[in-house]
Amino acid sequence: MARIVQKFGGTSVGDIDRIKNVARRVKATFDAGNQVAVVVSAMSGVTNQLVDYCRQVAPNYDFREYDAVVSTGEQVTTGLLALALQELGVPSRSWMGWQVPIRSDSAHSKARIEGIDTASLITEMAAGFVPVVAGFQGVGPGNRITTLGRGGSDTSAVALAAALHADRCDIYTDVDGVYTADPRIVARPRKLDKITYEEMLEMASLGAKVLQTRSVEMAMKHRVLVQVLSSFTDSPGTLVCDEEEIVERQIVSGITYSRDEAKITLIKVSDRPGVAAAIFGPLADANINVDMIVQNISEDGSKTDLTFTVAKTDLEQAIAVISGKKDDIGYVRLVPDPNVVKVSVIGVGMRSHAGIAQTMFTTLAERSINIKVISTSEIKVSVLIAEEYTELALRALHSAYGLDAA
Ligand code: ADP
Ligand code: ASP
Ligand code: MG
Repeated sequence: MARIVQKFGGTSVGDIDRIKNVARRVKATFDAGNQVAVVVSAMSGVTNQLVDYCRQVAPNYDFREYDAVVSTGEQVTTGLLALALQELGVPSRSWMGWQVPIRSDSAHSKARIEGIDTASLITEMAAGFVPVVAGFQGVGPGNRITTLGRGGSDTSAVALAAALHADRCDIYTDVDGVYTADPRIVARPRKLDKITYEEMLEMASLGAKVLQTRSVEMAMKHRVLVQVLSSFTDSPGTLVCDEEEIVERQIVSGITYSRDEAKITLIKVSDRPGVAAAIFGPLADANINVDMIVQNISEDGSKTDLTFTVAKTDLEQAIAVISGKKDDIGYVRLVPDPNVVKVSVIGVGMRSHAGIAQTMFTTLAERSINIKVISTSEIKVSVLIAEEYTELALRALHSAYGLDAA
């Protein structure tokens, strides 16, 4: 007997037939003699709709009430799946985050899980029930409902698997695994049988939305075996695991893109000690994360241009913060550019193989795609390019690294 956490995403529970289909899958695992705890997302599209309702009522909504509203999508699917399981003869009960409880901090709309009291769920499973737990939500200080950030049900599932010491956490979604690139953009992506925690973490944080970044962080920390699978087919999925478990290692495992960033260039900044602190200090104070940064050398030693990126959602605020400090910083002009995309090439093989970045630069140059900013780490190279070239760049790079499926 194994203890397994199964998570079903929005598309997998997108309508009543699909919920019944999920119930059949859960029943099969349960009937095989396993203990199963299920985590579900809201039906696809529902969370977006709920966010939109909040915006319509209060454009600058209070995050506590936002959480009260957007967490409701999962309440519906947990109840419906518990009913569907009961209809198949599987004893089942729904659990909201506060009922478990899944305790989180108070960072409403992007709360972090602090602990899960598993006693009730363990008793329930031992009594032959399948608990269906609402993903994406927790309970914060003062018993307020919190949510874990978009895509947060993945994190709920991995956190639950860690707390329950589950043998596995199976993430069922609308693709049958993690691919070398987003199948919605690249025509012939290759499915990875296995991927390391490290690479999956980079892929998730650099745009591959198949798993929420925090879920991978948590899996890596607690060594939870995560499997990404399709809820619609029976093909084997992708296992996220330690590097030692991977025999056939690729140099490049994946290519991602993220349209979530915007670029800001400050023209003719005074080239003097303390200027970077004058720019990035106020941004940090305003809770605005800066990702990529480039500073040019000034020809006359007095003025230089400086470019950096922030989340697109922070662009307006970043402009306001920098403009407010114009005199302290001493620049001539601020040029914002939201029409950019960050394309990244990821692979642990980069540690031992040279020339990965060079292939990226040459491939983009051959397509006349201009690189605006570059950043690298041990296992990835990212470039910022004009958004209109997203598809072209992804497809060209995918072929250049020999990743196209046969
Ligand atoms: P769920 O609702 O099940 O959580 P998501 O939409 O959050 O599903 O994640 C699955 C989607 O992730 C896929 O439909 C796919 O378009 C996208 N995706 C992006 N990059 C990748 C990748 N490298 N491999 C697989 N899927 C990816
Ligand atoms: N329903 C939530 C969302 O759409 C959580 C999730 O799907 O993981 O973001
Ligand atoms: Mg998701």
